[in-house]
Amino acid sequence: MAVEKQRGGVPAVATWEYASAPESREIVSFKERYGIFVGGEEVAPRSRSWFTTVSPATEEPLAEVAQAGPKDVELAVDAARDAFEPWSAWKPAERAKVLFRIARVLQERSRELAVAESLDGGKPIKESRDVDLPLAAAHFFYYAGWADKLEYAFPNRRPRPLGVAAQIVPWNFPLLMLAWKIAPALACGNTVVLKPAETTPLTALLFADVCRQAQVPPGVVNIVTGDGETGAHLVRSPGIDKVAFTGSTEVGKAIQRELAGRGIPLTLELGGKAANVVFEDAALDQAVEGIVNGIYFNQGHVCCAGSRLLVQESIHDQLVRKLKRRMATLRLGDPLDKNTDIGAINSRAQLDRITELVASGSEEGAEIYQPPCRLPEKGWWFAPTVFTNVAQSHRIAREEIFGPVLSVLTFRTPDEAVEKANNTMYGLSAGVWTEKGSRILWMADRLRAGVVWGNTFNRFDPASPFGGYKESGFGREGGRHGLEAYLRFS
Ligand code: NAD
Repeated sequence: MAVEKQRGGVPAVATWEYASAPESREIVSFKERYGIFVGGEEVAPRSRSWFTTVSPATEEPLAEVAQAGPKDVELAVDAARDAFEPWSAWKPAERAKVLFRIARVLQERSRELAVAESLDGGKPIKESRDVDLPLAAAHFFYYAGWADKLEYAFPNRRPRPLGVAAQIVPWNFPLLMLAWKIAPALACGNTVVLKPAETTPLTALLFADVCRQAQVPPGVVNIVTGDGETGAHLVRSPGIDKVAFTGSTEVGKAIQRELAGRGIPLTLELGGKAANVVFEDAALDQAVEGIVNGIYFNQGHVCCAGSRLLVQESIHDQLVRKLKRRMATLRLGDPLDKNTDIGAINSRAQLDRITELVASGSEEGAEIYQPPCRLPEKGWWFAPTVFTNVAQSHRIAREEIFGPVLSVLTFRTPDEAVEKANNTMYGLSAGVWTEKGSRILWMADRLRAGVVWGNTFNRFDPASPFGGYKESGFGREGGRHGLEAYLRFS
């Protein structure tokens, strides 16, 4: 055991070395090259174009993936169109069985898929293993249960599927976002064309194999890989009946403009700048765990990350001291090591964005703290960071950083906390820490956020709806509400 001196007047903490506990990467094998998944088969892209997906932790190439062009997208949409009539005519209970099978195969292959997710995306294995995979399976289990109960979910409204759903997902929770999209769509009798993000396509491609194993009828699930251009082709396709998008607010707005006047229902799950509000009566050690989970989980690549910490002034110094001490215990490094708390930043572009915003924080006068931590030489990394003395006008208090960077602001009264928490263009989530249940409810009534967590943060359950206010988007995923986005009523 060694005693390490901390910077910034923070008390010294005792540290000891962990032996590494790497998960085996042998459990997953990638092909050298992947085509697109159309009509139940992998086919070479008509575009004859591929790109390489790499591990952000080592920059090692993992596989070549198709850059689907307009013809590839049309092929996938046509396959989904052809499959729609027969699939929607299936007995709902039979459709449910398909979803149950997918859920079970996800569970059976969860170790393999978790390793794939961590390799391709850089997130710690303990998160992909304990959060992404169990939740992805839970979403399929949950929506399997609704497939033959839609008439009960929406009594007297004659729910019917929409048709072909175009679904576009980001890179922060690749398989989980896929599950959020595909599970409700299939449960309602739609067929889908899904496009994963360009930096994390591999678990979606492995999911194609899960579909084959689960005997999903050909054409019900189609997967096209590629960058934003591929996504734009998909949104422009005349053969789609619905668009579900999760990603940045900027692209969400572009998609909304593209769909204007076409009568195609749209759901948008966009960015966030959540307030995590700590009152002076809160259990501070628990709050510190919630703050750490809120912003350093998945390197802060979380749309609902608690990136603005609002602390009641009377406990500011004490809380910040505790927080810094806890930050010094976070372990950054190999995503496949089971001890790792903070993995790699997903891409060089994202690292550049985080670096630029953090520099602006210091330039605008906020005070930065990073615990001593050695960053690996290869790959893309960013140390856990907290800024104190942050003003509401600072960019780090207004813009989504999407990295392991926390901005601390203070308040004196509950009204001021509400005002500051709502002072953002976003409205996805918020957290409230207090020992008074009535105060949590009082705050939840006033916070303009789709989800408000009380004395916890980043809690997800497939039965609970999730979605935004303001520029965080519209529509809900999860729960009974999540079905509505894939149905029409008459
Ligand atoms: P992004 O908007 O750049 O990309 C998201 C997806 O859209 C990718 O698959 C990308 O290839 C595709 N895309 C890009 N341009 C497109 C276009 N013109 N037309 C169609 N598709 C296009 O976002 P990102 O950087 O991958 O993800 C980070 C963002 O996602 C953050 O803002 C985060 O808050 C948000 N996010 C939101 C939620 C939520 O549920 N609200 C969940 C996860 C991530």
